[in-house]
Amino acid sequence: MDLKKCEFWFIVGSQDLYGEETLKHVTEHSGIMTDDFNKDPSLPCTIVLKQTAKSPSGIRTLFEEANACSSCAGIITWMHTFSPSKMWIQGLSVNRKPLLHLHTQFNRDIPWAAIDMDFMNLNQSAHGDREHGYIHTRMKLPRKVVAGFWQDNEVRRRIGVWMRAAAARQDGLNKTVMRLGDNMREVAVTEGDKIEAQIKMGWQVNTWGIGDLASRYAQVTDLKAQTLADEYISSYEFVPEINQSNAAKNAVLEQAKIELALKEMLEAENAGAFTTTFQDLHGLPQLPGLAVQRLMEQGYGFGAEGDWKQSMLTRCAKVMASGLKGGVSFIEDYTYHFEPGNEAALGAHMLEICPSIAEKKPRIEVHPLAIGGKADPARLVFNAAPGQAVLATLVDLGSRFRMIVNEIETIKIEHEMPKLPVARSLWKPYPGLSEAAEAWILCGGTHHSVYSSALNAEYFCDWAQMCGIEFVLIDKNTNLNRLRNELQWSETYYGRL
Ligand code: MN
Repeated sequence: MDLKKCEFWFIVGSQDLYGEETLKHVTEHSGIMTDDFNKDPSLPCTIVLKQTAKSPSGIRTLFEEANACSSCAGIITWMHTFSPSKMWIQGLSVNRKPLLHLHTQFNRDIPWAAIDMDFMNLNQSAHGDREHGYIHTRMKLPRKVVAGFWQDNEVRRRIGVWMRAAAARQDGLNKTVMRLGDNMREVAVTEGDKIEAQIKMGWQVNTWGIGDLASRYAQVTDLKAQTLADEYISSYEFVPEINQSNAAKNAVLEQAKIELALKEMLEAENAGAFTTTFQDLHGLPQLPGLAVQRLMEQGYGFGAEGDWKQSMLTRCAKVMASGLKGGVSFIEDYTYHFEPGNEAALGAHMLEICPSIAEKKPRIEVHPLAIGGKADPARLVFNAAPGQAVLATLVDLGSRFRMIVNEIETIKIEHEMPKLPVARSLWKPYPGLSEAAEAWILCGGTHHSVYSSALNAEYFCDWAQMCGIEFVLIDKNTNLNRLRNELQWSETYYGRL
C-alpha cells in the first residue's frame, strides 16, 4: 500500500490577541516542522499544514473540510500559543476524523539570556495545550496524546504508529470483507454482529456464493495456471515428491487456479479481506490453501471457518505494517508445550498461514487433509521467524466488541516435525504461558487471531481507540487480579454507553 497517499492535516492553534508578528512566527515555525516531518521515513504518510486556527468559524470550517476530504485520514492539533478552547467546541463537535494531540514546542531549550515576555507569549504550548487537552477530555473525545520535543525519535515513532492505525481505519471504511460460505457450524466465538462492525469499524461484511468462485475457477485456463505455477517455482522451494507425482503437480495447478479466480473476484468487489470454510466448498476440488497463503502475502486479510472479524483485522494489520520489516498472518492457537521452564505455544492452521512471517524460503508440499473430505491440498510449509511479535483478536461480547492483544516472543523451533506439514510458529507469551492463557480466556479471546512480527500492541491500541472499541492488553506487566478488576470496570463503563 502506498501510505504516502494518506493525508494528515496539521492544525496549529493560536488566537488574534498577540498581533501579526506572533502569528507570522507561528506560521513560519509550523511550516518548518511540516517540511521536516514529511522528510522523515518514520512518518509514512503526508502531513498537510492548514492555516493557523484562531477563530471559532475558521476552526469549524477546517473540520468540515477534513470530513469531506476522502484522502484525509486524520487530524493533528498543536497549540503553539494559547488558543482558547471554547473556540474549538463547534469544530470538534462535527469532527469525524481520528485525532492526535501533539504536545510539543518549536524550540527545544529555554534561551536563558534572551528570554522575555514576547518569547513566553509565542512559545506557550505548556499551557496552551493544557487548555486544548481539557476540552477534548470534557467532550469525551477519543484521541492520542503525544508529548515531547518534535524532533525526538520517540515522538516521531509514536506519531508514525498512530498514522498507520489511522490509515488502516481509513482503508476499513472503503473495503468489503467477502464471506465465501457462512460461519462454521455450531462455533460461537467466530460469530458476531456484522451491522455493529460496520457502524464501529466501517467494515462491510457481506456474503457471496461459493458457486460464483467455483464457476470462475472452472474458467481459468491451464495455460494461465501454469504461468502462475512457474512463478511459484521461482518464489518457493518444492519438495521433490511433487515432480514425481502427477496428482501432486495437479494439486499445485488447482491452487493456482483458485488463486487466480479468488483474486479476480476480490478485485471485482473491492474486497480487502475474505473468509472460506471447509464445510462449503461445493464445486472446488480442494480447500484453498496455497491460494489463501499467496493472497495474504499480497495484502489481503483472511479468516478461516467464516471468521470475518479476524479476516478484517488481518487486513487492518497488513495496512498498518505496510513497508515495515516483519509480517502479518492469520493464525490459530493449536498445542502447548508444558515442559517446566521451557513453556511455549504452537500456533498454526490447517493450511492458511501467510509466508510474510516465515524464517526461510517456504516449501510447497501436497498432503491429505484429515478434515473436509476434499482432494489433497497444496500448501506452503515453513517456521515463523524468531523475535518479538504480537497476537491480536476481536470478539463480540453481545453488547460490544473487545480487542485483546498479547505480546509474545517467537522462539526458534529446534525440532523437526516431519509429520506436521503446515506452517507454524512457536512462541512464549508474556507474562508467561499459564498467566497469558488464563488472561486471554478470562477476556473471552478466540483461538483465531492475527499474528504480527511487524507490529506491537500500540498500533492495535490506537486503532481500537479510533473505532471506539474496548482494548485489553496482556503483556509483561499483566497481573491477573488487576485484569479481573479491569474487565469488571469495563463492563460498567460500556454498559453506560
Ligand atoms: Mn481455525
